[in-house]
Amino acid sequence: MKLLALPAFSDNYIWMISDGTRALVVDPGDAAPVLKALQDQQLTLAAILVTHRHADHVAGLPQLRRILQGPVYGPRHEAIDGIDIVVGNGDTVHELGLTFEAWDTPGHTAGHVSYVALPAQGMPWPRRLVFCGDTLFSAGCGRIFDGTAEQLLHSLDRLADLPSDTWLCPTHEYTVSNLRFASAAEPGNPDVAQALEQSLALRARGEYTLPTTVARERLINPYLRCRQPTVVAQALKQGAPDASALSVFTTLRQWKNTFTA
Ligand SMILES: [Zn+2]
Repeated sequence: MKLLALPAFSDNYIWMISDGTRALVVDPGDAAPVLKALQDQQLTLAAILVTHRHADHVAGLPQLRRILQGPVYGPRHEAIDGIDIVVGNGDTVHELGLTFEAWDTPGHTAGHVSYVALPAQGMPWPRRLVFCGDTLFSAGCGRIFDGTAEQLLHSLDRLADLPSDTWLCPTHEYTVSNLRFASAAEPGNPDVAQALEQSLALRARGEYTLPTTVARERLINPYLRCRQPTVVAQALKQGAPDASALSVFTTLRQWKNTFTA
């Protein structure tokens, strides 16, 4: 069994799990990298998981459905063409001998779901792996479209409560720019400084910074650190009305939208 990130566009990854003959992909915003990987590795496409409706996560569906030999799973509360089985909190998906729990993780969009893979023999993750779409990025989180800040904070807190060795697989490689923002949101955090240096070196070699882990995100992700005194102080300077986690989170998220390093 293998876990692969297929680069698509400039900063998208389409995650693929394969068992040597069959594959499953997550959020195929483009069919081409998936078709190429299937052909190169002589794999059939057994299933597709979709986290939310944005085009850079679903645009490859029509083309991939022509060769797909199983279902497309997607969020219950979003209108997406080409979903066969809708899922939400408490539903499980069984594909390639793996079990995924669907979690509602709204905030980026109101209907966003994540897929939490349970431990499985031969897979590299120790206890859990999460395909978290645009909910959590390394050192960052998605923008708020039709969800709310309260929803997104709750979704992020829920992911951060997973065991520390949980692997997190977001859809975008935004780590370096997120860490630049994290340096401003929490100046003096040595883990952020070290992660930025490490991520710059990885990207310079053309390597990925993902997957990340829950343990790492708890140390470097400012949106999971809304209760840290330094982060609170920075948010208050940026105009947060009070020191509550929700006010701090909302202020950080708005600040990031206009932040340039
Ligand atoms: Zn999105």
